[in-house]
Amino acid sequence: MPGIVIVGAQWGDEGKGKVVDLLAEQADAVVRFQGGNNAGHTIVRDGEEFKFHLIPSGILYPDKLCMIGNGVVLDPRILLDEIDGLKRRGIDVSNLRISANAHLIMPYHVLLDTAGEVRLGKLSVGTTRRGIGPCYADKALRLGIRVQDLLDEKILRKKIMAALAFKQQALRELSVQRRKLRKEAGEGAREGADPSVAAAPDPRLDLHSLTEEFAGYGHRLEPHIADTARLCWEALDGGHTVIFEGAQATLLDLDHGTYPFVTSSNPIAGAATVGAGIGPADIDQVWGVAKAYATRVGAGPFPTELEDEAGRHMLERGHEYGTTTGRERRCGWMDLVALRYAVRLNRMDALTITKLDVLSGLDPLLVAVRYRSREGAIFDQFPYHQSILHSVEPEYEELAGFDLDLSECRSEADLPAQARAYLDFIADFAGVPVRLVGVGPGRDQVVWVGQSAD
Ligand code: GDP
Repeated sequence: MPGIVIVGAQWGDEGKGKVVDLLAEQADAVVRFQGGNNAGHTIVRDGEEFKFHLIPSGILYPDKLCMIGNGVVLDPRILLDEIDGLKRRGIDVSNLRISANAHLIMPYHVLLDTAGEVRLGKLSVGTTRRGIGPCYADKALRLGIRVQDLLDEKILRKKIMAALAFKQQALRELSVQRRKLRKEAGEGAREGADPSVAAAPDPRLDLHSLTEEFAGYGHRLEPHIADTARLCWEALDGGHTVIFEGAQATLLDLDHGTYPFVTSSNPIAGAATVGAGIGPADIDQVWGVAKAYATRVGAGPFPTELEDEAGRHMLERGHEYGTTTGRERRCGWMDLVALRYAVRLNRMDALTITKLDVLSGLDPLLVAVRYRSREGAIFDQFPYHQSILHSVEPEYEELAGFDLDLSECRSEADLPAQARAYLDFIADFAGVPVRLVGVGPGRDQVVWVGQSAD
């Protein structure tokens, strides 16, 4: 199976990093195809924890090509920090390749992200304020700056100059609006506190400083810059296995997720073609990763959200705090209506269910099998209408819980009957087999169901 796509099946943080890490063992290359440093993967190897924001999880294998595809937007400072951090821990990063066509997150994107969220107030999307949305917006506006531009200072300067004029104006407008809002709210307009209206030239908005800073990043990143699409073709055509790693998840997809509470790219499997530069027929398998329950970070509809003891159990036992932001994640029961939608949308071949161990001690276990609207209408399918989704109540099936600590389980037979019944229910409802189950954060804390990945 040369091309395997791994996608998040819920709202993100499902443990894709660990699954990629495991499957990468049998692969030759790993490519990330979208998102920016708003994603966070945590991998525990031999008791040592690694957190990745940009670099694909495959970097821990020195013999695998590890690529950042053209569909990713990257902040070079963050990337270099990540590279330096790995080097300090003795990890060889010479196999890292960065697409020359990937877009760069510039400091003004970060400023715009923050200013935009502040302006939206209660309507804010809950972005991580890392400039990812504004960077993708510039890509579509043809104002973006790409990794390859770092290699020619003259071009870099010209492109920054073209973009800056628009950004300075946008930031000025946003800060005027903000001051107006503050005034209306009776707050003093604190001029100096706002970086976008500061009197002295801000290096984040200054052509000379930006060009110099980014040309410097170019020098450091040059050995890694490559035509990653071609590298994918060479691997696939040579019969090698390539893993396409999605960040975020299906329900955060820009087109198919709970818009506008979504990410600014497409994390679904189909996007691997665009974000890595391959054809649909290069994809042989799609694996979805879902938690045994559900979590969501930031704003947006979440029908099975819990604000009770069971929710606190998931939060605490599951350590549901963001890898990148440290934010507390919202927790809830497994939503099978949403999962079945994700399975079809990605045309998944298999599911991985992570964090089954976290459910130990909860009884009964609830799974949402349909929604009911305020007016009493029943939804067996994920509703496309946001107003409906915002107000639906889930209807649950109650399944028996289990008390056993699953962390030492390594085979299906080790799992209690209730846990197996829980997994069977999910697989039947979703219509795809569960192939891998997570029973702890460690890479050995898994149970393969049926045959293994090869
Ligand atoms: P990703 O972005 O989808 O890779 O997810 P994160 O890395 O943000 O979150 C997953 C977290 O769950 C990490 O801290 C993992 O170490 C941890 N994790 C992954 N699989 C399991 C599992 O089966 N059980 C438990 N208890 N933790 C897990």
